Amino acid sequence: MQLKPEEISKVIRSQIKYYENTIQQNETGTILMVGDGIARASGLINCMAGELLEFEDGSFGMAQNLEENSVSIVLFGSDENIGEGQTVKRTGRVVSVPVGEAMIGRVVNALGQPIDGAGPIDTTEFRPIETQAPGICERRSVYQPLQTGIKAIDSMIPIGRGQRELIIGDRQTGKTTLAVDTIINQKGQNVICIYVAIGQKRSTVASLVENLTRSGAMAYTIVVAATASEASPLQYIAPYSGCAMGEYFMAQGKDVLVIYDDLSKHAVAYRALSLLIRRPPGREAYPGDVFYLHSRLLERAAKMDDEHGGGSLTALPVIETQAGDVSAYIPTNVISITDGQIYLETELFHSGIMPAVNPGISVSRVGGNAQIKAMKKVAGTLKLIYSQYRELQSFAQFGSDLDADTKARLDQGARIVEVLKQDQNSPVPVEKQVAILYAVTRGFLVKVRPENVKDYEAGLYSFLDTDPDGNAAMEEIRSSGKLEGGTEDKLKKALDTYTADYVDRQA
Ligand code: ATP
Ligand code: MG
Repeated sequence: MQLKPEEISKVIRSQIKYYENTIQQNETGTILMVGDGIARASGLINCMAGELLEFEDGSFGMAQNLEENSVSIVLFGSDENIGEGQTVKRTGRVVSVPVGEAMIGRVVNALGQPIDGAGPIDTTEFRPIETQAPGICERRSVYQPLQTGIKAIDSMIPIGRGQRELIIGDRQTGKTTLAVDTIINQKGQNVICIYVAIGQKRSTVASLVENLTRSGAMAYTIVVAATASEASPLQYIAPYSGCAMGEYFMAQGKDVLVIYDDLSKHAVAYRALSLLIRRPPGREAYPGDVFYLHSRLLERAAKMDDEHGGGSLTALPVIETQAGDVSAYIPTNVISITDGQIYLETELFHSGIMPAVNPGISVSRVGGNAQIKAMKKVAGTLKLIYSQYRELQSFAQFGSDLDADTKARLDQGARIVEVLKQDQNSPVPVEKQVAILYAVTRGFLVKVRPENVKDYEAGLYSFLDTDPDGNAAMEEIRSSGKLEGGTEDKLKKALDTYTADYVDRQA
């Protein structure tokens, strides 16, 4: 065979031309052990804390403990196809989730992947799930109300945009219902809602999504679900993922409401994960940093000042207590982090007082500044009258011969209790709340029998829509937020007319 020098040199030249002299730094490690949803790998020299790592079978994990010779990895999927001796690859980025407008209306898992069967989500932007909370100088104090539409809360335990308010109570006391009703009430309020379900049953989450869809709330809501059947690392990152999705909108100057349902199960998931990667157990076997677990999450709720866009992120974490014990480890931690708590009681719930809010031990440390003036005016004395009533009621059980004054106060209390009762999925607009609370505190309901209060209330709302005076008063409260002068007179007149008519019909 004849060798042509020019051909050989051509081949060599092209080889040289396409020679790549950059070394691909595909940093990989070797798995030393795997089991119980965790893996340990060696050789991941530059691995970052919280970094996303990829296994040979395409599943992912998160780096947790960085030790001298090995890295502990928590797995986001099953460990079925992961074996000792396999390689694990760095991705070079900390765990992040997709964010953006396209997420709205979707149900996603803790990694932001859709699980509602409605196809892929069209987003390009990602945000790390763990970020530093906004600093002091970027914030301003909470001053705008976040209306829940629940009379007992908007009047006595008001919540402001950017606040962190805990919903706490035993199992089956209406915690989730309260949170979901708050989402439903945000319709048309320009608030984007994110509901994070942690460690709940799949069936519960499914019916919740159905409920939100039925009430049209999915149009502005994202549901992040890490159900009980999912690995504890996914339950652990779910609230941070939800928060990151919310922060994207807050950064654009929008108002966001995030619900973490619930953080008790979140702490349990974190305990499981920590024990498996051999972190030393502390009180109740929770790891030492369980306080930081929740404080760094809830500190990300904020009201930004105008220079930084003026957005807000309101957080409503939920905690489940055991037998009403609010002084247990996790409840006290979260109580001390939040700006107040809404305490739901089993006894109230079972005696038919729903929402079962106990106003005596529920507080809102900042929301009062965020109440509209009209609400402040009618609700000012409500909490006091209510607590006095509860006190008086326990005394009244002993004797039957009560003086007229005591009896009047008891009746007034009973009417207030009736007014504050509210069915689920039926939020009341704030101006209507003002009307009914005005009526009960200014004695319009004196002649209305307690069992008729609900009927009176329903009738009043439709009367206010049709009556010219009532309608004008409602409109003025809606636009100015005040109940003064002319507005108050119109409301009084409407209430007089309606009440006189109602009492006649009742008799
Ligand atoms: P869990 O501990 O299981 O999470 P929970 O505290 O979240 O329970 P919910 O699931 O909200 O409680 O409510 C328990 C039950 O009480 C539900 O069946 C719900 O329909 C009912 N309920 C809650 N609030 C009201 C209300 N205001 N009016 C009528 N029923 C209510
Ligand atoms: Mg619940």
